[in-house]
Amino acid sequence: MCEECDKPQDGQEQLYRLRHSLAHIMAEAVLELRPNAKLAFGPPVEFGFYYDFDFGGEPLGEADLPEIEKRMELILRKNAPFERSEMPLAEALAWFEERGETYKAEYARELVETGKAGGGSLSFYTSGGFTDMCEGPHLERTGQVPRGCFKLDRISGSYWRGDEKRPMLTRIYALAFASKDELKDYIARRKLAMERDHRKLGDELDLFIQDADVGVGFPLWMPHGTVLRDELEKWAKEEEFLAGFQRVTTPSVARGALYLRSGHLPYYKDSMFPPMLVDENDEYYLRPMNCPHHHKVYAARPRSYRELPLRLAEYGNDFRYEKHGSLSGLLRVRAMTMNDAHIYCTPEQVEGEFHSVIQMYQKYYAHLRLGNFRVRLSLHDPDSDKFVADHNAWEQSETAVRQVLHNLGVAYEEERGEAAFYGPKVDIQIKNLMGREETVSTCQLDFVMAERFDLTYADRDGQRKRPYILHRAPLSTHERMISFLIEFYGGAFPTWMAPVQVRIVPVSADFAPYAAELQERLCGDFFRVETDDSEESFNKKIRNAVTRKIPNVWVVGAKEMEDRTVTWRRYCVKEQVTVAFDRAFDALKDMRAARAMDNFADTALPLG
Ligand SMILES: [Zn+2]
Ligand SMILES: [Zn+2]
Repeated sequence: MCEECDKPQDGQEQLYRLRHSLAHIMAEAVLELRPNAKLAFGPPVEFGFYYDFDFGGEPLGEADLPEIEKRMELILRKNAPFERSEMPLAEALAWFEERGETYKAEYARELVETGKAGGGSLSFYTSGGFTDMCEGPHLERTGQVPRGCFKLDRISGSYWRGDEKRPMLTRIYALAFASKDELKDYIARRKLAMERDHRKLGDELDLFIQDADVGVGFPLWMPHGTVLRDELEKWAKEEEFLAGFQRVTTPSVARGALYLRSGHLPYYKDSMFPPMLVDENDEYYLRPMNCPHHHKVYAARPRSYRELPLRLAEYGNDFRYEKHGSLSGLLRVRAMTMNDAHIYCTPEQVEGEFHSVIQMYQKYYAHLRLGNFRVRLSLHDPDSDKFVADHNAWEQSETAVRQVLHNLGVAYEEERGEAAFYGPKVDIQIKNLMGREETVSTCQLDFVMAERFDLTYADRDGQRKRPYILHRAPLSTHERMISFLIEFYGGAFPTWMAPVQVRIVPVSADFAPYAAELQERLCGDFFRVETDDSEESFNKKIRNAVTRKIPNVWVVGAKEMEDRTVTWRRYCVKEQVTVAFDRAFDALKDMRAARAMDNFADTALPLG
């Protein structure tokens, strides 16, 4: 019985039954080993199921899991049916008392008192020699569990009803899937995800750290991580320049008055840091978004239709109050730098601007090979007070965005209640290595802020009119985007982004002068290059370069020095080539200029 279990999603009903059934079977096996254990909750969960036990003075450990698994197999072979029965509360309580099941008794009482148990009687399921209070559903018989489809995973502590004042329970987690192959696939993906976890690689590759004195959620970018940020920024600045954006620079702090006007106070207050009191009674806030500052830049001059669309861009620093428990590596942080811009345009220009912005998203995502994304149109929820109340404006702008997506032929799904408080947004959803979906970036159409900030432009007819505003951040925040890139690339970045682009490995100290000459040429052209002049063996030097995931290793020995060549080894590519240094140098420049994705083996060296 499980108050916490996730209800089955469409098409997941059979899996849900399987996991539910296995939870019973595991409990039965555990009780064979520990007849005095008390049962708590045992629900199906995302990748399997768990069961919580109170073992009193005789706990189980992970070393016992194989024995439990073995007993489960034996139980499955008996192919007992799952049979439902009902008991009135009094009878159920007596039954639990006889067995010392205090947790079950407590929950049974609660179910009846809160009216959750239909008609005051409780539902039980029996399979073989085991009976558990449970709503089901289950498989028909234990023998229907596919062979090898589950694995007991790990043990952790938990509290009854999550209450730290109650006794500590032992939770046994198990993985369970529809087939043995799916289980194997999940375990392999989880292994890969663990190896590629951006927190782990971020540390190993010296990309970023977190420090307790600075605070969790405030990452410190190391020199290598800063290169990744700089390269993304450089790219964004070029693309935005070509697309007619102008850069502005604004501070990360503002007076409360600004956020009262924007509506961040009150609509967004929970996500902001508390105010700082400055100059007696003047409240200042760390900014959660860049928009209000940009609106002030727009408002600073009288604007004419001739200036529109006005596109203001800034890689802005923002601060959001995220709950401590939700902070995770770079994915959820309290300080971030956003690839932000605001486009102020006439109503007639909205569609065209939106179109260009979505195309820019597509260009970035295709180039970075983040093809595995889904577009979500996030709409407001008229029943929630989290959104500005203006029925007509919502209708109008939601229809407009829907129309743009439709005209562009972009496949999308709609979701209520996910809009920004000031307008609908298009979210780019990416699946991480474990298949879990995250919003990587958004694009919003805003009909509210021009009014709130009294933004206008003089139209052709001399009338003052309100501009529409597009908020867009295709490369997301550095924190979020780089966390994805680290995991998708397994820390192996393409040459143009890589913190160290070339490592020169002289076969012995005799070739140090040649290595130094090459390094000087590369540095002179702004390549990030280093020479391994350590005392390590040659093989060790190559292994070290692989561990650091350096995209290009240039080996130089007697032959190379004599012929003025390099022997070029690429990360994770077996074949190596020996080429004239000048050609190699030109190829490197071409790769950088094209931002070639040579971290994928299908991208050949441009050696002509
Ligand atoms: Zn059940
Ligand atoms: Zn904005």
